[in-house]
Amino acid sequence: NQSEEKLVEYMDELEFLALTAGATIDKRFIQKLTQQDPKTFIGSGKAQEIRDYVKSNGIGTVIFDDELSPSQLKNLGKEMEEVKILDRTNLILDIFAQRAQTSYARTQVELAQYQYLLPRLSKMWSHLDKQKGGIGMRGPGETEIETDRRIIRDRITLLKDKLKTIDKQMATQRQNRGKMVRVALVGYTNVGKSTLMNAISKSDVFAEDKLFATLDTTVRKVVIGNLPFLLTDTVGFIRKLPTQLVESFKSTLDEVREADLLIHVVDISHESFEDHINSVNQTLMEINAHQKPMIMVFNKIDAFAYEKKDEDDLTPETRKNISLDEWMKTWMSKSQYPTVFISALHKENFPEMKKMIYDEVLKIHTARFPYND
Ligand code: GDP
Repeated sequence: NQSEEKLVEYMDELEFLALTAGATIDKRFIQKLTQQDPKTFIGSGKAQEIRDYVKSNGIGTVIFDDELSPSQLKNLGKEMEEVKILDRTNLILDIFAQRAQTSYARTQVELAQYQYLLPRLSKMWSHLDKQKGGIGMRGPGETEIETDRRIIRDRITLLKDKLKTIDKQMATQRQNRGKMVRVALVGYTNVGKSTLMNAISKSDVFAEDKLFATLDTTVRKVVIGNLPFLLTDTVGFIRKLPTQLVESFKSTLDEVREADLLIHVVDISHESFEDHINSVNQTLMEINAHQKPMIMVFNKIDAFAYEKKDEDDLTPETRKNISLDEWMKTWMSKSQYPTVFISALHKENFPEMKKMIYDEVLKIHTARFPYND
């Protein structure tokens, strides 16, 4: 029941992910199924079509916009012997691995990668087995796979221990920050959180038009009108964020979980911004941070594209027919959260936004220190 337009948007996002990972995209295949094929994810006709295309065009990799089960991965591997098969989780893990800067982030990503790999190990090998069968590099037999499994399990235990130690240190660090009000920037990946962080705190956080520029949290002390608070930039959320990552990025997400106030940044110039809001709320729910005070910041108003089309063209899906003013009268006006529209890049509407943050922080501050002036 997904509209054509949605599917195209999902593919756009997958392509952006793939580009971020360093791939170039040759062709897209879309298949509408009411249910995915438990064996091969896509139908056999589509698999054939992809295989033929891949063969005649010398394509090296096929990427699927979902997490494939271990057996789907295995079966597709048999279908398309010459190519590497990646799923969405694998791709996101790969980007995270590229972008991890600190040893903490690297440990988190490595753990998530092994957790992804473990149930797929024998399936991956058996695919290789068949591919390289007989010629020199034979795939490992069952015993070798067992040994590999044990090594990976040991490694997982080790990484978990390492993370536990760092988690404890980080929890202590957070405690030591005292009772200052803590504000966390949350939002879909690439919405402008780092740009906003830099603009508010005059710091120099890495901002880039790629997905997941930020893996490690940055904390800055910010003062608005004599009121100091701590501002944290967090890892971007994304649709179908791999569960392995949610788990291993616990400490990063703890920043969100332990924040007093969330600033939910939305890229209003993005066609799917409503989906993005839902994904973020979903993740907030998963980490039990959905009941916190929140400010909605709609960013990139400078890039908001509004093309008035013909009246006949006005379907609910053609979002571009809705101007910003009209948008503001929709569900946005009924939001339970304070809402502001800005451009982080051009610092538009910053006084209004800062006043909003000030008011919310002051509420929390006053509740915490009731006897101070
Ligand atoms: P993050 O992943 O949420 O931290 O997003 P970044 O801060 O890295 O920004 C992602 C991209 O959006 C960068 O190329 C920014 O320059 C761009 N960007 C951020 N804010 C704005 C804005 O207000 N307007 C426009 N047009 N682009 C913006």
